[in-house]
Amino acid sequence: MQNNLDQPVANALSEDYQRERTLSFLEKLYIPEILKALWYSFKQMFAPSFTLNYPEEKWSPPDIFRGRPVLVEDDGQERCVACGLCARACPPLAISMQADEKADDPKERYPNVFEINMLRCIYCGYCEEVCPEEAIVMSKDYDIVFESREDAVYDKSRLLVPKEDLKERLDFLKKYKNNQFGQFWDFQEENNIHSVRDRDQKWNTGLSLVDMLEQQKKNDASEASSNWSV
Ligand code: SF4
Ligand code: SF4
Repeated sequence: MQNNLDQPVANALSEDYQRERTLSFLEKLYIPEILKALWYSFKQMFAPSFTLNYPEEKWSPPDIFRGRPVLVEDDGQERCVACGLCARACPPLAISMQADEKADDPKERYPNVFEINMLRCIYCGYCEEVCPEEAIVMSKDYDIVFESREDAVYDKSRLLVPKEDLKERLDFLKKYKNNQFGQFWDFQEENNIHSVRDRDQKWNTGLSLVDMLEQQKKNDASEASSNWSV
């Protein structure tokens, strides 16, 4: 027999379509099915539990977890140099900042204002990816509660977290980013400008970064003139 493709034989919309199968006598009683369900529930009472009694029991996320983005505080000051890369990379435009220069060191910039609107943040981690200073990282904090829109805008006082408390994530980033870029770009702590200044203070007490650069210029100039005299 040739099938008529315009009118299929089994069609749920057709009035002839059988919607119910014929139940056996036991199935019609429903009792065996109820007992099976009770037995299953009883067995689950002795199965290992995978749920936590939150908030009494807190989950400790792995290092790869992307929680609330925070600013890294290094020796009492922010690592951030207010370059604005994170704000440019942020897809929902959640980050806003205002840069300023330190009075005693005009080459040193810092964010006078730094805010993240947590109503917008999608925890993508792009800010962390692009930051050249490892100054903004994704923390393990997932317990984020606010009662108003204003409360959802986190300022520096709520964003700054000491680097010691972020050690696990910073170590993870060091490994992950170094793997990604190889020797081309090693995200080492000593590469950021604060560390350069700190090293400067350690090795050349009293010299600021500006003084060090000036000294470097003088050294370069003296080398050039000695070359001319040869
Ligand atoms: S995690 Fe993503 S959305 Fe959130 S602040 Fe960073 S870049 Fe913006
Ligand atoms: S957090 Fe990083 S990327 Fe964002 S402004 Fe500061 S230094 Fe630049």
